[in-house]
Amino acid sequence: MPVDGPEAFTLILEPVPGCNLRCRYCYSDCTGSGTMTRQTLRTALEKTVRYAADQGFREIHLLWHGGEPLLAGLDFFRTALEILAGLTPDLSCRHYLQTNGLLLDDDFCDFFRDYEFQLGLSLDGPQDLHDSMRLGPDGRGSHGAVLEKVRLLARHGMAPGFNAVITRGSLGREQEIYRYFQGLGRGFRVNPVTPGLSPENSIEYLLQPGEYGRFLCRLFDAWVGAARQRVRVSPLDLYLRALAGGGTYECQQRETCVGSCLGVKPSGDAVLCNRFETHLLGNILDREIGELLAAPICEALRRRAGMLSACHPCRYWSICHGGCPLNAWVCGQDLLAKDPFCKDYQLIFNHIERALADLQREPHPRPVP
Ligand code: SF4
Ligand code: SF4
Repeated sequence: MPVDGPEAFTLILEPVPGCNLRCRYCYSDCTGSGTMTRQTLRTALEKTVRYAADQGFREIHLLWHGGEPLLAGLDFFRTALEILAGLTPDLSCRHYLQTNGLLLDDDFCDFFRDYEFQLGLSLDGPQDLHDSMRLGPDGRGSHGAVLEKVRLLARHGMAPGFNAVITRGSLGREQEIYRYFQGLGRGFRVNPVTPGLSPENSIEYLLQPGEYGRFLCRLFDAWVGAARQRVRVSPLDLYLRALAGGGTYECQQRETCVGSCLGVKPSGDAVLCNRFETHLLGNILDREIGELLAAPICEALRRRAGMLSACHPCRYWSICHGGCPLNAWVCGQDLLAKDPFCKDYQLIFNHIERALADLQREPHPRPVP
């Protein structure tokens, strides 16, 4: 999800359920077909503009997600932009697109550049890591094809960010992963693999408690120790900012994520966010967003932070708030439990704090007279 301050409402739109890859760790069932209808698209956009205006948000963030959103075709995105232009909101609107990139062509690139879409390409790092997980229907890895699309984007004056999924195979390779993205010259975000609707797909790749935290610590060391021009690493940059007193910006760090985002599937079914496939809130075609976000599960999640009494004494409470309820659900079927990555968060928060303290202990250089 994009990094959005509380002043932004994020609509996560899934134009198609299907995907043209067959990634081993995929949390979703990507074999579906069909495309979101124009009526569903229009309704989702109209209701979002209305809700965001009513609630006093200053910006709308549209996150195009999937499945693989480019399977919807360029005309789908043109239609969306036409509808949005007709809504003339007093709100600014930013577009983010999460894609495997394989369907990018000259027309898509021109369109996304002209409308200032920020692209996030799925790329797990060095070739063997990526190709061991991100396979086409023919069973072949997609790394070379993704890099080809990175070069295509560059020819159109665009530089995407990257999203890398972290599995057991990534452990111990933090320096290499950092240097790989540094070599591409763009920032990246890491996400630990999590189970989803088909947990049997991912079970052998899941990280044990503490492994993700230690991975983040080593990645942090690679980042701060980098000799050449650094590239941004999320979520480390966000943790660093939060620990330095700059406030929390990730949905997972806030007291509640309810009220600032909504996911809409091709059928119009609404979910709290794109990963939250297990709990439908209703359908956007017959309910306003305020009604969807008043579903019993949302009411329960609004109370979650108050109920996490085991977290309240934690020194990281103000920048964590118990983490992501969906992680709690997929790992333990308890939405109101704390995030199972708790130990990992404590490890990385503590590691960053010590690095900041070390910096402060360094002697000031004497001013040159
Ligand atoms: S459920 Fe988790 S990932 Fe989804 S919006 Fe909430 S905090 Fe973010
Ligand atoms: S780090 Fe762990 S104990 Fe602390 S607030 Fe986060 S989930 Fe709770």
